[in-house]
Amino acid sequence: MALNKEEQLKIDKDGLDVLADIHRYAKEGFDAIDPGDFIRFKWYGIYQQKPKTDPYFMMRVKIPGGMLNYEQTVVVAELANKFGRGLADVTTRQAIQYHWLQIEHMPEIFDRLAAVGMSPIQACGDVVRNVISSPVAGLDAKELFDVRDLVWDVEKLFLSNKDFSNLPRKFKISISADPRDLGHPDINDLALVPARHGDEVGYHFLVGGGLSAKPHMAQNLGIFVRQEEALEVIQAVVAVYRDNGYREKRNHARVKFLVADWGAAKFLEHVEAVTGKTYTRGGERQIESWNGAYLYGVHPQKQVGLNFVGLSLPVGRISGDILLEFARLAKTYGNGDLRTTNTQNIIIPNVADEHVEALLAEPLLQQFPATPEKFIGHAVSCTGSEFCNLALVETKERMKSIAYYLDEAFPSFDTPIRLHVNGCPNSCGQQQIADIGLAGALVRIDGKMQDAYDISIGGGLGHDAKFNRKVIAKIPADEVKYSIQAIVDHYVATREPGESFRD
Ligand code: SF4
Repeated sequence: MALNKEEQLKIDKDGLDVLADIHRYAKEGFDAIDPGDFIRFKWYGIYQQKPKTDPYFMMRVKIPGGMLNYEQTVVVAELANKFGRGLADVTTRQAIQYHWLQIEHMPEIFDRLAAVGMSPIQACGDVVRNVISSPVAGLDAKELFDVRDLVWDVEKLFLSNKDFSNLPRKFKISISADPRDLGHPDINDLALVPARHGDEVGYHFLVGGGLSAKPHMAQNLGIFVRQEEALEVIQAVVAVYRDNGYREKRNHARVKFLVADWGAAKFLEHVEAVTGKTYTRGGERQIESWNGAYLYGVHPQKQVGLNFVGLSLPVGRISGDILLEFARLAKTYGNGDLRTTNTQNIIIPNVADEHVEALLAEPLLQQFPATPEKFIGHAVSCTGSEFCNLALVETKERMKSIAYYLDEAFPSFDTPIRLHVNGCPNSCGQQQIADIGLAGALVRIDGKMQDAYDISIGGGLGHDAKFNRKVIAKIPADEVKYSIQAIVDHYVATREPGESFRD
């Protein structure tokens, strides 16, 4: 079998084995770094920042299920301020991403995160990544049961586990028992969604979802998995991928390609061969209408007298100082916990009824509101050319300017229209599930290459999950907002009563 460059690198030295080298490079400096180790750094959440010749790094810090306590939030914020020029981005996998780190900073960052039970280990690389969940797991009355223990068990099972540190590519898991598909299940490599079988509640397992240049919706394995069986089935699914996934071409290595070739039935045969068990067939997936996983405003929790409050972080970018202020508010009005969301927002949970009004009156919530304007409140962006080496175009500032323009053009708009942008054909900004998605491209104007975007419409998850379709190619960056305005104008002029944009 012809192996690609990354496969050979992993055989030469496992990604997890680069830790001692990171500590050595921290003493010897950037110029001492072996080029192959830049790739292995990903196993510790570290990416080279653009341009690769400069001695700066991005780092992703995992937040399983988006669950942060007070001490963790303070450390995450202080590290952003001390080493990352104050920047902290919330990602579409509920993680935090730093920029501007230097190799000399890594030992202290690892130590301080470990002291509060956090880690960047396996936030990147060919491993099981940050496990995402409903951001209100354990809080929301709609969930069939609490998945938080399973999220932590999965994190513990795969963390620094050499049996699973060399997968063909990354592996993304979503676990949720909320019928509104808050964990975006259909676009994950493996998703656990709520199901009923007679009087029992448990999971259906979806495999083979994913975005990037060739998006696939996950397929249902057709088994009803009881909660006590879930961890062994998750481990078996990852083992089947590890042992059978394609390793010849990086762009054909995700589990979605294996599932597409095998089909769900054959994949399940392999899973059951690993565990030596036969799982219950059937059951009904519990699914209600999808709300894009947006949870703005004040919501009563299943714990009587407590509420969670969803707040908007435009395109997920905040500073360490702002995060410290969120930590203070969480401690003052709640129990100190925060939740990050896969829509790049934040939730303050456990706010007693009598404290809600005072929380909503806090100055920080005027900047990061519980009821944001419709377009900026539903805008998602990847990192883009500011820091990402793969980017063709800038994304975060562009998305903000487009969304603010649309909010002015359509004041008091009555329905959310979800805008997502990717800076390249990869899909960290998940543009294929957007109502209106932008994919970065380049266009030659007057002999010069300039930022442009392909525009796609009509994506979404839930009952009739589908990817959006491209309707306009390579619109120059400055004209994109007018094209979107025209699309929204058309929707407003032609919609039937109650017809959503996606319909
Ligand atoms: Fe970088 Fe492309 Fe991912 Fe955006 S979508 S962060 S440009 S790799």
